[in-house]
Amino acid sequence: MSAITHSLVRKASRFAARHTLQRWLPLQRQRAVVSFSFDDVALSACTTGAALLQEYQARATFFVCGGLENQMEQGQLCHHGAQLQQLHRDGHEVACHTYSHLNCELQPLSVLRPDWAKNRHYLDQLGIPLSGFAFPFGAYDLSSKYAAAQRFSYSRITGGGMQQGRADLHALRAQALYAGKTTEQEIRNLITEAVEQGAWLIFYSHEVSDQPGPWGTTPAQLRFALQTARDAGCDLLNIRDAIQHYRAVSA
Ligand SMILES: [Zn+2]
Repeated sequence: MSAITHSLVRKASRFAARHTLQRWLPLQRQRAVVSFSFDDVALSACTTGAALLQEYQARATFFVCGGLENQMEQGQLCHHGAQLQQLHRDGHEVACHTYSHLNCELQPLSVLRPDWAKNRHYLDQLGIPLSGFAFPFGAYDLSSKYAAAQRFSYSRITGGGMQQGRADLHALRAQALYAGKTTEQEIRNLITEAVEQGAWLIFYSHEVSDQPGPWGTTPAQLRFALQTARDAGCDLLNIRDAIQHYRAVSA
């Protein structure tokens, strides 16, 4: 198969996966909800990030790979278990991102399933209950979407967009919050749109550092997003709590 054909097949597969096996959560049009999430969970997200969230009484979702504990990733030192326990005690959501940061689109289920189980065991040992999932690299196909749907209460993808009117719990859309890429105007526009549409906007990032890599945010940018969302009257809820909130208002 040529590279172009292969790329087209993957795009078609991703499109098919995106648009099948949906599980809709109705979102009543109301105050916008903004969720912040941190993937891989760098040490700085647990410390600098959590302190900033605390200032705004915001609770976030931290998508953890157990295999990254105390490891360096992209030049960033990652979490240790006690910090995840503290985040959990503080009302943040600690959720799964595979144990080994696997590309779920490329790995067979015979590899994925034991890896998920290993991360479950890692979180179990910390006393953290099973929650949702975020696909590493935002990569998934139909079989991994289906397998994740059987295991987790929700799955988050990347690739942009927000949830309006309804949310696919098996593929929640999210927007990058990257200091080198996302401008303040884009953040303002996204939050304005969320407010106007009564939508649910999810941001994702990695480290929270004054010198972040290409996939991280700065304390100043995170503060700007938190402040803009709060000034706009949005509820700042982690993903788990946002789902509970929408279920409660539609019950
Ligand atoms: Zn990741």
